[in-house]
Amino acid sequence: MAKQKKSSREDPKPQRGVAPTEVEDDSKFDRALRPKILKEFVGQKKIVGKLKVFIEAAKRRKEALDHVLFMGPPGLGKTTLANIIANELGSELISTTGPSLERPGDLAGILTSMQDGVVLFIDEVHRMPAAVEEILYGAMEDYRVSIVVDRGPGARSVQLGLNPFTLVAATTRAGLLSNPFRSRFGIIERLAYYEDEELQSIVERSASILDVDIDEESSFEIARRSRGTPRIANRFLRRTRDYADVDNKGKITLEVARHALQQLEVDKTGLDEMDKKILMTVIDYYKGGPAGVNAVAAVVGEDAGTIEEVYEPFLLQKGYLRRTLRGREATEKAYELIGREKKASSMQTELPIDRPEQSTEN
Ligand code: ADP
Repeated sequence: MAKQKKSSREDPKPQRGVAPTEVEDDSKFDRALRPKILKEFVGQKKIVGKLKVFIEAAKRRKEALDHVLFMGPPGLGKTTLANIIANELGSELISTTGPSLERPGDLAGILTSMQDGVVLFIDEVHRMPAAVEEILYGAMEDYRVSIVVDRGPGARSVQLGLNPFTLVAATTRAGLLSNPFRSRFGIIERLAYYEDEELQSIVERSASILDVDIDEESSFEIARRSRGTPRIANRFLRRTRDYADVDNKGKITLEVARHALQQLEVDKTGLDEMDKKILMTVIDYYKGGPAGVNAVAAVVGEDAGTIEEVYEPFLLQKGYLRRTLRGREATEKAYELIGREKKASSMQTELPIDRPEQSTEN
């Protein structure tokens, strides 16, 4: 493999003393707080352990790393891992998104201009048009693309060889990917929601980068209200810092953190409005369940796939919902949270209209 280039895109470091405002760009901070190497990446231990081995092996063999697919809800670190992979490989990273690749030519243009060993990151890959996805098949498999040149009777397809590269794709909706596409990834990983202690480490790490004075109790308070999601934890830290700057000479104490989060109307459990709507639907509408995902989706007015892949994993992980063969059931913890009493006779009268339970994993 030819000598690899370091990514030319440097993350801007935030300047302490520049007062953040409500219109502050979240993505700028996302970049600044993003871990750059695997060692700095908190949690997701199994995934990190595997990536370490695969990256090291690819480097030793001087080959491109296998194509990687990251699945999971927003804000859990998919983009961060794509950046880390490029960094650890010492490769250039080229980032794009599924919806911005409108025509096959858009992708072919990127692929044919890529140097040896590039990491191509495609975020929201489930939103890539089918015609573009087809171009990727050959590119992923044999580093080739066919391009149609000329129009009308003179139109012909020309095969172009590509430099070896690694595709890192990210999706919040793995269920929308076609099987032929998924099967072309050598490494497929699903990111899980973070435990409170892991989020606390992330808050502490971010606080130190942002030069914020925060104590242990406060970092835990922010962590446990962040819905298992690093992006949310970082956002709450920044908003809490605003309150600390104005009310407490910049120091975040438990009192400041609680006051700030209360002002921001952040729930004590970290659940958001849609989480609660789902639980209320299962409890009130379906008498505690079992209820099928399509039935719940119809009541809350959200897409069934989004409920299944974005909302439900958190509710299951935190023990508010239970999955049974007949559908979802609310647990005691959910009843307590919503403030309902569980009656012994709480039995669903209708059959769930859910399709059979299916894992979205391979
Ligand atoms: P996704 O691509 O899954 O939506 P990102 O990779 O953009 O999520 O992560 C959002 C932000 O959360 C990042 O900017 C980073 O600061 C932070 N973050 C995510 N995962 C971790 C982690 N494991 N350790 C530390 N910070 C993290």
